Amino acid sequence: MNIGQEVLELLKEEITEVQYNRYIKQLIYDAKKSTSDLAIFYAPNALVNNWIKSKYSEKIAHLFEVKSGSKVSVKITLKNSTDKRIKLQKTEQKLQHSLLNPSHTFDNFMVGGSNQFAYAAVKSVSESPGEVYNPLFIYGGVGLGKTHLMQSAGNVFQNQGKSVIYTSVEQFLNDFIRHVRNKTMPSFQEKYRKCDVLLIDDIQFLSNKEGIQEEFFHTFEALKGSGKQIILTADKHPKKIGGLEKRLQSRFEWGLVADIQPPELETKIAIIKKKCEINKVKLSNDIINYIATVIESNVREIEGILSKLHAYSQLMHIDIDLAFTKNVLKDQLQENRANLTLDVITNNVAKDLNIKPTEIRSKGRSKNLVYARRISIYLCRELTQNTMPQLAQYFGMKDHTAISHTLKKINELMKNDEDFKVKIEELTNKITSVS
Ligand code: ADP
Ligand code: MG
Repeated sequence: MNIGQEVLELLKEEITEVQYNRYIKQLIYDAKKSTSDLAIFYAPNALVNNWIKSKYSEKIAHLFEVKSGSKVSVKITLKNSTDKRIKLQKTEQKLQHSLLNPSHTFDNFMVGGSNQFAYAAVKSVSESPGEVYNPLFIYGGVGLGKTHLMQSAGNVFQNQGKSVIYTSVEQFLNDFIRHVRNKTMPSFQEKYRKCDVLLIDDIQFLSNKEGIQEEFFHTFEALKGSGKQIILTADKHPKKIGGLEKRLQSRFEWGLVADIQPPELETKIAIIKKKCEINKVKLSNDIINYIATVIESNVREIEGILSKLHAYSQLMHIDIDLAFTKNVLKDQLQENRANLTLDVITNNVAKDLNIKPTEIRSKGRSKNLVYARRISIYLCRELTQNTMPQLAQYFGMKDHTAISHTLKKINELMKNDEDFKVKIEELTNKITSVS
């Protein structure tokens, strides 16, 4: 057995059999091309590839370290793309900053109320760099498309033959340290101060790093002074980034500061449709609507779900229908809802129906209370991991049969009463979006 197989055997002990058979078992280790610090695995298709990369690659790297005693970087890739990727990786290392993702384009970016402003700003900068908004500062929560938008402009510039640097604060810092160490600072300055466009992602990481703030300040001044475009992203407004020199903070606001908000339902639906088109996944409208409703905002999470669905359906030779989707999403949703408590749910139901939370848990038999209690029990069962006996105790009922009776009643109602079903869905959305 080679070390790659040994590592996968170790991993087998750490994950469930289903996970192992579904994903890990499909990996093939390339003993020939792998070296002492690079382990190469092949995945059978793009979706399994992405899934393993996002879920297991760190674990695999860790197990390699355990086995071999030294750090190994792990490449999981599709068979035919390895050579290209490794080459790419090498040039990337040489350049010390990342490459733009070619699929991050304006065409692939779905615009809605939530991101319209940022989109328009980046778009106009891409049409007249260095002229309209400099710097352009985009901020917003994780997975909302900041990197995608920034790189869309980057790709436009690159296609025009401009020299574009796209980098994270960390890479900028590492590059800086390397040049200081090698006493080659002039070439560092040459590189960052002479490029046509500088894109720095997640600039909030400059926070409390004085040395690099100083260097960045001079880079900024040089670029701005010669009319070169700067685009920055962050997870918050410049004013809210702590540990930042005043002069930098104020410069971040010189051009335009644009925010990206979580996508509203229609935008989420448009994004899902786009991703399906790109990844050649076919989903019916009810499935698309379901995913858009249950996933709050993070677009990256939506993408993860699409690959998961696709991978499952391919591996198990099952068509993707709504029941299948719900099943696949179960784990994910439970993770998201891990901090949803019985109190949060009952309080929300009480508030919505205009009664006191204590009344829901009382023995009152009025029609209103029974109605509210039933809904609460149903939602508590759906949205948390509590068992029926635990719910019986919480709602002051005799035993779990009372709970199961209630659940049966609600399920019947859901089947026969469309208004009631809508009410339950509304409440579910409300509760899961506050958590
Ligand atoms: P951020 O940098 O804000 O954390 P990303 O730009 O990395 O988020 O976006 C996460 C993923 O979601 C990317 O794959 C991106 O393509 C996708 N995405 C986000 N917003 C949109 C959108 N409006 N249209 C299409 N794809 C989007
Ligand atoms: Mg990003």
